Amino acid sequence: MIHYLDHNATTPVAPEVFEAMVPFLTGEFGNPSSAYPLGKRAAAAIAEARERVAALAGCEPEEVIFTSCGTESINTAILACLELDPDRRHIVTSAVEHSATVKLCERLARKGWEVTWLPVDRGGRLDPAAIAEALREDTAVLSLLWGNNETGVIFPVAEAARIAAEKKVPLHIDAVQAAGKVPLFSTGAGITLLSLSGHKLRCPKGVGALVASRKMRFTPLLAGSQEGGRRAGTQNVASIAAFGRAAELAQAHLAEHAAHMRGMRDRFEARMLERVPGCEVNGDRENRLPNTSNLAFEGIESEGALMLLAERGICCSAGSACTTGAVEPSHVLRAMGFSDARARSSLRFSFGPGSTEADLEAACQAVPEVVAKLRALRPQPGPVAMAS
Ligand code: PLP
Repeated sequence: MIHYLDHNATTPVAPEVFEAMVPFLTGEFGNPSSAYPLGKRAAAAIAEARERVAALAGCEPEEVIFTSCGTESINTAILACLELDPDRRHIVTSAVEHSATVKLCERLARKGWEVTWLPVDRGGRLDPAAIAEALREDTAVLSLLWGNNETGVIFPVAEAARIAAEKKVPLHIDAVQAAGKVPLFSTGAGITLLSLSGHKLRCPKGVGALVASRKMRFTPLLAGSQEGGRRAGTQNVASIAAFGRAAELAQAHLAEHAAHMRGMRDRFEARMLERVPGCEVNGDRENRLPNTSNLAFEGIESEGALMLLAERGICCSAGSACTTGAVEPSHVLRAMGFSDARARSSLRFSFGPGSTEADLEAACQAVPEVVAKLRALRPQPGPVAMAS
């Protein structure tokens, strides 16, 4: 039996979402650019999905561009901002972004752009004053997370939008984790670009969206004609229809799902803190996505814990899914000022709308046992033998 507590990595596909795809994988196979009814029905499905995603993101449907994933949206957004004014050679982002942003900004830094990595405090919080201080006349883009994928800590997005507008700097927000967990706002509230991903929202992998303000002069990453010339390539109709349905469900059940996830997460966390000595929460507990719990367990290695937990059917993460497998401690926890040892002893549990009491109970049983086992296996400090 699997107890899936890794919804920040990806989510199971909701049955209603799967159903929304099926017609476009079977009889309704038309190309949405075709002029006959089969094509027009595919185009209508995309138009409906665009409205649903716009309702979730708080923008106009014409501002939604379908992409292949959150990573593509982020890359497109940042690069589109750099195209606006070639004389602006400065980029501002934070030290705790998702690897899609980090890797792109590192590459741009190697190519000559100056990148300011805004620091966070021990709670993973970003000070709006630091944003205001960092933005300059030659800043091409400010790119920030809405909610952190590892800790769930929420950034001051409304303040960032106000500051960016005041300084006339385009703002990109990575809302991949925030969508479906907190109410979103976007272009109406001063955000220039906003990235979303389907598979964090109970939709299959391989579809994302980029919200681009219609006030922006937008340069696509891929040249061609689809999506109004903003994202070329024949649209993935079935996945876009699924994304629309997933967005609709996320929006309709936002408060209910958030309350469910928060309830589970808070009960889980309370029991870990009570039952496991040397357990601490990583990140600001007041200002977090409702589903995420990042916990440090003193004296363990998270890699070993993941294996033992997997044997008991528990799926969770060490750091973000994209860096699991690499031995490097999480850049997010390090930026928060934690030691490598603490970062390596941390596990992320992320609940979803479908998480059950059985999942919670299984994790509450298994985690203390696994932590105790790993601690018992730890080499005990003893007398050091002196070489003669
Ligand atoms: N941004 C954040 C905050 C994420 O958590 C992820 C995925 O883990 C991404 C971006 C990338 O999204 P995708 O997997 O759709 O490329």
